[in-house]
Amino acid sequence: KAKKHLGQHFLTDENIARKIVEGLSFENYNNIMEVGPGMGVLTKYLLEKDQNIYLAEIDTESIEYLKKNYSGVNENTFVGDFLKQDFSFIKDEQIAIIGNFPYNISSQILFQIVDHYERIPEMVGMFQKEVAERTAGVPRTKDYGILSVLIQAYYDVSYMFTVHENVFNPPPKVKSGVIKLTRNPKEGLAGNEVLFKQIVKTGFNQRRKKLSNALKSLNIPEALKGHEFLDKRAEELSVSDFIHFADLWKQNQ
Ligand code: SAM
Repeated sequence: KAKKHLGQHFLTDENIARKIVEGLSFENYNNIMEVGPGMGVLTKYLLEKDQNIYLAEIDTESIEYLKKNYSGVNENTFVGDFLKQDFSFIKDEQIAIIGNFPYNISSQILFQIVDHYERIPEMVGMFQKEVAERTAGVPRTKDYGILSVLIQAYYDVSYMFTVHENVFNPPPKVKSGVIKLTRNPKEGLAGNEVLFKQIVKTGFNQRRKKLSNALKSLNIPEALKGHEFLDKRAEELSVSDFIHFADLWKQNQ
């Protein structure tokens, strides 16, 4: 029986499961971690591949089920809570992430990935549609916001497809969206993450205001005061604009 507090909705459509797994490139990494395998609808296709498979699952009933029903899965396959991973068990190696994620911790999963982007070249996964759209959001649209900029500073995001409620058991209340992240570290962010995040968050918190107003509380450096970006709203700046702006800010602080 599905456990609601663990965000359990089991995918029942094999074609969609296969399409999600085939979203990964299977190139340039030896390891794949699946988040929340549940009853293994994605896992069985992953086990056909050459990579080492690791499963992050916190439901003991699921773990027992997977061990019993899939050869190739054993005690060592399981790594526990995804949000607690530091990936040290596969030191210095690259690991791709895949999953039909528990929607109650969607943003935490995305930020866990960004926090370890040096180890994670690729992710394919399903979120509630709204989160998938916000992650893939482009400038001057309502979807473009904090999540879009903070994720796209590290990854190119592509929206793969939408999944209807009725292919899950039990059906979730909302539609789902599958996205793919491909690592593409943008120039200039190194060492300036804290200021970058602060500018992005503060700028979008008052997204209707020009940045000259929205960022006032951060004490805009004097040398930046005439800058053209300050005359715009947060949603008008590209991800590269934000990175460039945070860089200038740091130099003039
Ligand atoms: N992959 C299965 C499928 O597609 O049918 C199950 C998906 S279900 C939406 C989410 C799964 O994530 C559940 O099996 C749940 O137990 C698991 N889960 C919840 N929180 C987790 C966490 N912090 N770390 C790892 N897995 C978690």
